[in-house]
Amino acid sequence: MENNIYQSSLNFDVETIVKWKVSAKWALKVINCTYEGIINNCKGKCCCTPSFWPCNAEGKTVCYYLGKTGCTLSNKDKPVTCLLFPLTVVRNTLVLYWRAPQPHSCCYPNYGKGSLSVVKSIKPCLEELFGVDLVLGIIKSVEQGIDFEFIVPKEVELLLKYEHKLNIEHKRPFPRSELKLQ
Ligand code: SF4
Ligand code: SF4
Repeated sequence: MENNIYQSSLNFDVETIVKWKVSAKWALKVINCTYEGIINNCKGKCCCTPSFWPCNAEGKTVCYYLGKTGCTLSNKDKPVTCLLFPLTVVRNTLVLYWRAPQPHSCCYPNYGKGSLSVVKSIKPCLEELFGVDLVLGIIKSVEQGIDFEFIVPKEVELLLKYEHKLNIEHKRPFPRSELKLQ
């Protein structure tokens, strides 16, 4: 791996404001992406799915950071990609991973299980990225059936671009808290 500093050659346009929309339709899908759901149902398969980054970084099939009892990184250090999943960003809209409702997908054992919508299931991860108040606003809005639009924190936007680059280069991420924004 190179270093933990964003490369200036990436040409990040730090002045552009990027907005994301949270789709109420997708955000309200029920999925038990919780500790209980992981232990009893999906076994955290998204951390050892060879077609997913960062599981497949450096030619591996299981994530470098996966330990015996789950991810060894705290939420402060996990990649943005992992904190968002099973939500993904499609054309600036946060939607549920499209394969989640399909048999054989990593999430399927938890899809439609439990009582929590996906945004509530992964609330602590979303709070890590966007803060408590914004996540409260997202939940309130989507529970009224209204899509929620917000300005993406610049750091989140930069990190996602950085992770996209690492994905293409088949590299694993550094713990997030060790990264330096440049
Ligand atoms: S960094 Fe952690 S959460 Fe992300 S894929 Fe690896 S083990 Fe899973
Ligand atoms: S994202 Fe899917 S596979 Fe990963 S822990 Fe949540 S439900 Fe399980």
